[in-house]
Amino acid sequence: MLADGTVFYAPIGEVVIDDELVICHLCGWSLRSVTVHLRVHGWTPGAYREAFGLERGQSLEGPGTRKLRAAAFTSRLVFESAVRDGSAAGRERARDGRLARDAAAAARGRSFPEQRRRKAVRALAAIPPEVVARANRERARRNLARVAARSTEPGLPRHRGPRPGPGRTRRQSCGHQPPRWAGQGLAVTSPR
Ligand SMILES: [Zn+2]
Repeated sequence: MLADGTVFYAPIGEVVIDDELVICHLCGWSLRSVTVHLRVHGWTPGAYREAFGLERGQSLEGPGTRKLRAAAFTSRLVFESAVRDGSAAGRERARDGRLARDAAAAARGRSFPEQRRRKAVRALAAIPPEVVARANRERARRNLARVAARSTEPGLPRHRGPRPGPGRTRRQSCGHQPPRWAGQGLAVTSPR
C-alpha cells in the first residue's frame, strides 16, 4: 500500500511485462498499454511513474505496442513535415547539449526514482570486491601523498622556532608584536 492508502498490484520500481502485456500497478490488469488505460483510474502517466518509483522515460507499454508505435512514428516522419521538423529540432537540441541541460534542470529537486536507485545499486554490485578494495587503497595512497607533499612545500617552514615559555604567547616570544594600531576601530565595526 502506498503512503496515501493506494493499494498496488506490481512491485515498486518495476514494470512487470507478461508476454506482450504490462501489469497495471493500480488494478493488476494486464494491458497492451498502461498509458492509455490510466484514464480509467483518472491518473496521468507522470503521476503514475512518480507514485510507483519509475523513471521519467520508462515505457508503460508492452513491447508489441511499442514496436507498432515506433513504426507509426517512422511513417509519420516520412510523410509529415511538421513531425520531421520537430524531430530535427530535437536532434539539434540533443547535439548541442541543450537537451541534457534541460533534463538535468528538470531532474534537479526531484526525488530519486526507486528504479534509478536500483540501477545504481546493481551497477555497484557488479564491480568485483577486490577492484573496489584496490580503488580504495589507491585513493588512500594518493591522499597520503598529497598530505606529505603539502607539508614539504618549499614556502612553508618545517617548524616554527622554539616553543613559547610559560606565560608567553608564541607571538611575543619570537618578537613579532602586532602593530599598535591593530585592534583600533573595532568598536566602530562591532555589532551594536
Ligand atoms: Zn489499472
